[in-house]
Amino acid sequence: MIGAMQDWPLTLGRLIDHAAVNHPQREIVSLLVEGGEHRTNWAEVRDRARRLAAGLTALGMRPDDRIATLAWNTHRHVECLYGIAGMGGVAHTINPRLFDDQIVFIANHAADRVLLFDLSFIALVERIAPRLETIEHFVVLTDRAHMPESSLDLMCYEELGSAADPDFAWVAREENAPAGLCYTSGTTGNPKGVLYSHRSTVLHAMAACTADAFAIGARTVALPVSPIYHASAWSIPYASAVAGAKLVLAGPHFDGATLQRLIVAEDVDFALAVPTIWLTMLHYLDASGLGLGKLDRLAIGGSAVPRSMIEAFAARGVTVSHLWGMTEMSPVGSVGAPTPEIVAQGDEADLAARMKQGRALFGVEMKVVDDANADCPRDGTSFGRLLVRGPWTVATYFRGDGGQVTDAEGWFDTGDVATIDRFGYMAIVDRSKDVIKSGGEWISSIELENAAVGCPGVLEAAVIGVPHPKWDERPLLIVVRKPGASVTRADMLAYLTGRIAKWWMPDDVVFIDELPHTATGKLLKTALREQFRGHVLAA
Ligand code: ADP
Repeated sequence: MIGAMQDWPLTLGRLIDHAAVNHPQREIVSLLVEGGEHRTNWAEVRDRARRLAAGLTALGMRPDDRIATLAWNTHRHVECLYGIAGMGGVAHTINPRLFDDQIVFIANHAADRVLLFDLSFIALVERIAPRLETIEHFVVLTDRAHMPESSLDLMCYEELGSAADPDFAWVAREENAPAGLCYTSGTTGNPKGVLYSHRSTVLHAMAACTADAFAIGARTVALPVSPIYHASAWSIPYASAVAGAKLVLAGPHFDGATLQRLIVAEDVDFALAVPTIWLTMLHYLDASGLGLGKLDRLAIGGSAVPRSMIEAFAARGVTVSHLWGMTEMSPVGSVGAPTPEIVAQGDEADLAARMKQGRALFGVEMKVVDDANADCPRDGTSFGRLLVRGPWTVATYFRGDGGQVTDAEGWFDTGDVATIDRFGYMAIVDRSKDVIKSGGEWISSIELENAAVGCPGVLEAAVIGVPHPKWDERPLLIVVRKPGASVTRADMLAYLTGRIAKWWMPDDVVFIDELPHTATGKLLKTALREQFRGHVLAA
């Protein structure tokens, strides 16, 4: 047939060029590891990414080479994402909170050739360097003045690109070529690599900008507290370039005081992070009496958002969008924004909808299936395994690890148990390995935890299944008290009465000083199960 539209590959070079040409002055503000604040803009980030691409090419890096980062959210890390992809390479963002052995495994598995890292990680890098089999160059993300003394032969980031060609042309790649690599945290078995393509990254970023997702536009001032090293800060370094948004990056800081100051000083109106960050923030705000300036929207995900958190932010004029996703989904799968039906039903319905994990973005298909693989009805109560597919969902792990991970129709099993209602809201019941199986029925540990953290005096709560002679498993509630609080077992059980189904009532409550978390901030239930394996419940 005669007539066609243009073939225009969706590449990251084009994306950053768009931001540089159309939003050149829009700022990127970073708190630096060296201390102080740094201000740049999309035009400068593009130019420096180009120089980095030229510098890496001069070092001998070639298309498809993996180049790793161990870094916080700063303008330099954003430059790395674009510069590495722009020279045809693959930006492998490593989570610095992993154990040494895991980092070594990941870097060797990826066969990373260069490691760019923040000053904070010099001791870590020196420690593991002898075991890194493929790294040829260590580059410190700093200037000459801050270069550390080291037994390693270190390069300086600010010098790497400075002598390189500022007019370096992005290496031409087709849109399905790889651009990024991120490993799952591997709480069970070895971490597996998810290889993002230029196309998957661009489509995901465009979808993230849409009104019922993150609603990012040129007037948005976005603060992704979600780290770039964990699934690209939920697309924000890319989505902000699509929209020309201002980007505010907190570097190594995750505390309430620094984030609050940044939010107010930079007029942040949209911020993103996991629930634990916002929990800390709420405590800080209560204690300090300070406010949140122009902040009016939060996107929270990675773990379930409790009702008490949504209410606490609503009382401060901040709307919470609950999102769900996973590394395997780039990571955004669903985001909650009220539909007209929900709005018509009033505030309580709105709150109930916000507690669910959101509706699928265009580009994500979702379904829930039962044990026989039959589709569950979209009635909000039938639950089963949550399957997904789409252009930014994993098809195969890096190097084929795990074998075939989708079924014949391309569905990927998320490992989550969920419901979907008639408006398309998906609600996570639990991770399939965390759900508590009691007398043939299922108890959602997430729902119990969310109810428990609403109890005054509770800082954090976890629920695990403990073996029970009659019921197979019963819930054990593990609580961390707020400083100075004296909430008791009886208080907890009284609080939960009427808030949860009677047969969900935890059989016991224990108090501990701190809960274990994964490198991505989730409750580490495997460690809790180990710790409380011998815990005896009444028969
Ligand atoms: P990992 O930590 O194993 O690398 P991810 O960080 O990719 O995995 O997290 C994915 C998982 O996190 C999801 O499968 C789901 O269990 C959980 N998750 C993410 N968002 C939410 C949410 N809003 N509510 C409940 N669970 C969530």
